[in-house]
Amino acid sequence: MSFSNLGLSDAIVRAVTERGYTEPTPIQLQAIPAVLSGGDLLAGAQTGTGKTAGFTLPILHLLSEAKGDRTVDSHASDGRPSSNRPAEKIGQPRKRSPIRALILTPTRELAAQVEESVREYGKYLKLTSMTIFGGVGMNPQVQRLKGSVDILVATPGRLLDHVQQGTVDLSRIEILVLDEADRMLDMGFIRDIRRILALLPKQRQNLLFSATFSNDIKAFASSLLNQPTMIEAERRHLTADTVAQKVYPVDREQKRQLLTHLIKEHNWFQVLVFTRTKHGADRLVKQLMDDNIPSLAIHGNKSQAARTRALAKFKDASLQVLVATDIAARGIDISDLPHVVNFELPNVPEDYVHRIGRTGRAGAVGEAVSLVCVDELKLLADIERLIKQPLPREIVPGFEPNPHAKPEPIQNGQRGQASRGKRPDRAPSRSPQAAPQPRTARHADGERSGARSPVSRRPSGRH
Ligand code: AMP
Repeated sequence: MSFSNLGLSDAIVRAVTERGYTEPTPIQLQAIPAVLSGGDLLAGAQTGTGKTAGFTLPILHLLSEAKGDRTVDSHASDGRPSSNRPAEKIGQPRKRSPIRALILTPTRELAAQVEESVREYGKYLKLTSMTIFGGVGMNPQVQRLKGSVDILVATPGRLLDHVQQGTVDLSRIEILVLDEADRMLDMGFIRDIRRILALLPKQRQNLLFSATFSNDIKAFASSLLNQPTMIEAERRHLTADTVAQKVYPVDREQKRQLLTHLIKEHNWFQVLVFTRTKHGADRLVKQLMDDNIPSLAIHGNKSQAARTRALAKFKDASLQVLVATDIAARGIDISDLPHVVNFELPNVPEDYVHRIGRTGRAGAVGEAVSLVCVDELKLLADIERLIKQPLPREIVPGFEPNPHAKPEPIQNGQRGQASRGKRPDRAPSRSPQAAPQPRTARHADGERSGARSPVSRRPSGRH
């Protein structure tokens, strides 16, 4: 089955072919016809499955068909963030058209990445797109919004800032996408999302993508979607043959030395290392730098500029190690990433699957290793149960764990060394059994005023 057989226009097929895609991924095979049919969609899909093209390609097709402008030269693809680009393409004065598709994402990085895909896949169309997220100035976004924008990719908090200031008009949205909806709920965006939904026309197409389906997500989906087509992409662990997974048992105090040893011994480059907390990420970077391993951290307390810079250096392979928390790393797409290291196991087993989804993507071979101390054995068992396979253990000579070590108690959903007084850079449990609780919005988008509960026990931060 090829992309053209799915009913996409030649201009779109040409762009994806140039991108190097020869055939649709399983999620694309299901999602593209479903979206083209105009109905609502509920998709179980995580990053790494090709879900982004699964919704952007048919949206581009639908919007360009309706606009009747599908084969004109190129979409602006100058590599600059869309909010920094002039609103109109040079030599193509256009009158302002309404925003017709809104894609909401939990994080800035994912928003930027999705919009990059929109531009890339739509480069032979005349449609325009932009991103809106916090951590950067409002004004360039306001200026850009004065021009023509067909597809808007946004994080909820900053989008609401624009709504409050009257600088964005959502009254003509035809297609709404909630990307990584589970993560948006986890991050406490539900109220913001509901406020945004209230501003949209009632008659519209809704597409909801989620990696997991807790009761919260199911309830939310049923309130939003109208007789949706339901599809599910193969879970990452079913394609684990492209990812070599391994566990290195080690004492908690030896983890950092073992990581340095592994990186130096195997000459690893482009290593994405996960820690559980922002503080832990910063501390690890400092230690790795002391070991002469160039590293940077990416997490919610970093400025947007620092995050973008770190990611760019990592992507162009001028940075050896990027240390990230789960939320900051969500949605990062680095093709052919060779090494993912779980410096600490995640509290939620599904996050393990997301993490290792950074490597071995789209058929490339990758390696995912976990440094596991005695505190984390229960987490490891949970992960193995979820992925339905035992992970091979390898003890590195010189780093043998003490067989008599006692696990440290779990505190605030965290364990062991990372737990002492540190806050996780992610929402805590998303167990379907957990009682629904009112959630306070955390903002990916820094400058938003008000609407934040000072007594929220949920971790705060900017993502
Ligand atoms: P996503 O799940 O949307 O984050 O996409 C994961 C990766 O798969 C990205 O690097 C895409 O560029 C890539 N990709 C998406 N669709 C295809 C395809 N049909 N063939 C090969 N790679 C793809």
